[in-house]
Amino acid sequence: MTARSLLAALLLLSACQPGPGGEERRTRFIMGTLVEIHLPAGQPRGHDDAVNLAFGEMARLEEMMSPHRPDSLLSLINQNAGGPFTPAPAEFIEVVRRGLGWGKLTKGTFRLSLGPVVALWHFEDPEPGPPPAGKTLTRALDLVDDAAIEIRDGQIRLGKAGMKLDLGAIGKGYAVDRALAVLAGAGVKNALVNAGGDLAVLGRPAAGKAWRVGLQHPRKPESLIAAFDAEDIAVATSGDYQRYYIHGGVRYHHILDPVTGMPSMGLTSATIVTANTADADALATAVFVLGRKKGLELIESLENVEGMVVDASGAVAFSTGFRRLPGFEFMGL
Ligand code: AMP
Ligand code: MG
Repeated sequence: MTARSLLAALLLLSACQPGPGGEERRTRFIMGTLVEIHLPAGQPRGHDDAVNLAFGEMARLEEMMSPHRPDSLLSLINQNAGGPFTPAPAEFIEVVRRGLGWGKLTKGTFRLSLGPVVALWHFEDPEPGPPPAGKTLTRALDLVDDAAIEIRDGQIRLGKAGMKLDLGAIGKGYAVDRALAVLAGAGVKNALVNAGGDLAVLGRPAAGKAWRVGLQHPRKPESLIAAFDAEDIAVATSGDYQRYYIHGGVRYHHILDPVTGMPSMGLTSATIVTANTADADALATAVFVLGRKKGLELIESLENVEGMVVDASGAVAFSTGFRRLPGFEFMGL
């Protein structure tokens, strides 16, 4: 973790802010971001154990899905690319299946097999240097092929040597869903889990109140563009300000266009509100790459999905139902 990415992670804290109300907040650094669990004030003691279990669940999923840990299941599958099938638990296969589904629906805008290209970008390095180009980039792009991800009962295989699975655009959302399920399973009725802007809620912060979610301005972290009340809902944001570096005066960020392998230009942030965080996470990334027009068209074509996009010129656009979210407020840019 570099000083810059730590700063970025801290800024992400304000990506979605629950409203005032004296809630209790616990934090832990997981999946490269500061994860917050909010509970209403005055929780029973047992809820501490539930919170620890929820953080533990997210850390377990990070161990499984991290590309940075050589011993993760993801790394093992990648090492076996072009070789044998690797046994994988049902939850891992479920995340892959869902990701592949979003890939098909978005006609390849969302690509779980983007790993070889992602690996060429060194967003974590203090001095990442010039962006990848030429043959290095072309070779990596040639290995991006979701159709070559093979799944058979309890096993997974990448068809070509050098292929790499990357769950960076969906794994965090899935982990938030699991954390919420663990909290609920342990008897917690009211909570908000926020992993750097990918968040989901249970219940409410106090009787008659709802968890308030604010959406951060992509260029002014201290300002909010819009806010709404979250009830039984998940939210995820993909932004060009979340992980990036500047080289030669150009901002290179981590959301990549699978056609070019370069950061997707056009939008500065895309937010999705839907029933679960895994889908919100995947869709936020996909909509970011699709851009304003196609992204909003995709959102409108899906049931129970709303979205907000901010484009590079600073214009904000909402899907038709977004403004009908309870307590919706638009502060503008
Ligand atoms: P998110 O922050 O959810 O938008 O996810 C961004 C992360 O997902 C990146 O750090 C990459 O690991 C991966 N990624 C980048 N571009 C794509 C894409 N077009 N499709 C799928 N995964 C991507
Ligand atoms: Mg995502």
